[in-house]
Amino acid sequence: MRARHSFAWLVTLIVLLTTASRAAALSSIDCTESTDTGYSSGNAFPIQVVTVDGKKMEKESANAYIVMAKAADAAGVTLKVVSGFRTMAEQQYLYGCYVNCSCNSCNLAAKPGYSNHQSGHAIDLNTSSGGVYAWLEAHAGSFGWKRTVPSEPWHWEWWGGGPGGGACGGHPKGYLDTASCETVAGWAQDPDAPNQAIDVHVYFGGPAGAAGAAGVSVPANDHRADLCSAIGSCEHGFDLLSPFGLHDGQPHAVHAYGINLGSGANQELGSSPKTLTCPPKALSGYRRHVTDPTSYEAWGFSDFFDRAPVTDVAIDALAEGAPWPAKPELMIAEGGGAVYQVDGSHRRHVPNPAAMDAWHFSWSAIQTWTPSKVAGLADGPALSQRPLLVRHSSGAVYVVDALAPDPAPAPGGTAGGGGSGGAGEPGTAGVAAGGWGGGTVFGTGGADAEPTDDESVEGGCSVSGLERVPVGWSAVWTLGVAWAFARRRRV
Ligand SMILES: [Zn+2]
Repeated sequence: MRARHSFAWLVTLIVLLTTASRAAALSSIDCTESTDTGYSSGNAFPIQVVTVDGKKMEKESANAYIVMAKAADAAGVTLKVVSGFRTMAEQQYLYGCYVNCSCNSCNLAAKPGYSNHQSGHAIDLNTSSGGVYAWLEAHAGSFGWKRTVPSEPWHWEWWGGGPGGGACGGHPKGYLDTASCETVAGWAQDPDAPNQAIDVHVYFGGPAGAAGAAGVSVPANDHRADLCSAIGSCEHGFDLLSPFGLHDGQPHAVHAYGINLGSGANQELGSSPKTLTCPPKALSGYRRHVTDPTSYEAWGFSDFFDRAPVTDVAIDALAEGAPWPAKPELMIAEGGGAVYQVDGSHRRHVPNPAAMDAWHFSWSAIQTWTPSKVAGLADGPALSQRPLLVRHSSGAVYVVDALAPDPAPAPGGTAGGGGSGGAGEPGTAGVAAGGWGGGTVFGTGGADAEPTDDESVEGGCSVSGLERVPVGWSAVWTLGVAWAFARRRRV
């Protein structure tokens, strides 16, 4: 981590040096970070500071300031920071000047521990220079800066807002809130582009780059009402289904990283890593043979997310149902209603949009059927909320499903696939262990599956590939498909 940050700083400094030579009048900024002790309402907290015009400034405020200073510079107005972040000792000195009227022009100073110069939000600017105050009064608000002390025209504060960006590159921030047997969820935002969604890379089994760690990319673009006021923008949540592949009773580390936009570097999210420990899946229903790799692929099944490690004994204990359909076939009756998966002579209700996502279904694949054609199918049990697959040591892969097989066929019939159970059944020839449905965690495996500049920041991805998680259903909601579902997750 350290080495990567140094690298990012170096890049930033080069950018700054280039910029500085172009516009010497602009505030100078040194993005080398250090940690100091800030105070808010008398309480100490660690604060990241950089240097602007030779003064220490809290990093995010410094970014917001430099964006504003550049705009002022373009308008021919030169802003300078006269006072920035203050340590406790500095505030004690200024407070002494104020109460004793002995120094600092007897200027007002807040009680030590209570100044916003100590919380990192306040700076004093060169408002006595020509044009500076008038420019600030007209424009500072659009950069998130406010004048807050009536008697001090030089004192300005930043508490968020403005266009984002800034020379010192905000790293993504956020939290890995949950890693449970149902979901892996949290939020992430990049201060360089506060209203834009970023990707989050979730690694299971170790940090990014660790041997055996499996990475998944998910867009952090879900609406989360709690974020609107907390970070000033709402669409930054992410969630993944808990991978059945790790439901083995063992603990698995879960690391989440915000993927950086603009300057800065990818950043492990707060509360990461977490530990996922889930019991082996209990199986019920019927095992339905996925007859070949083509079918497995047509369904978009994921070994990692969909297939639970269970014993042969547990698989053999399930009665065998009809072979799993070769490919998904989705339909909706003319005039609207529920979306169904066609399953042989049955229709299976897809219970909600979350199930649509979890089953890897494509909204554009939904066909429209005449009501009479729909009525020609028997109503089977609704599809489960997400697929559950198992793999026998013989190599046979099954979907565990609620649909009972049709009654035994008349002699010579073919329905039900009865009698084909067990090892060596037709269709599994050539499906050796390590072939499809086994082996690599991700179908897209390989180092080159990791996009962007990730390697340099997360230390590479030499082991695992990366699985692109489909964008949430909200993106396709505008298709206007009439949809009968129980709840909307991401409105
Ligand atoms: Zn001040």
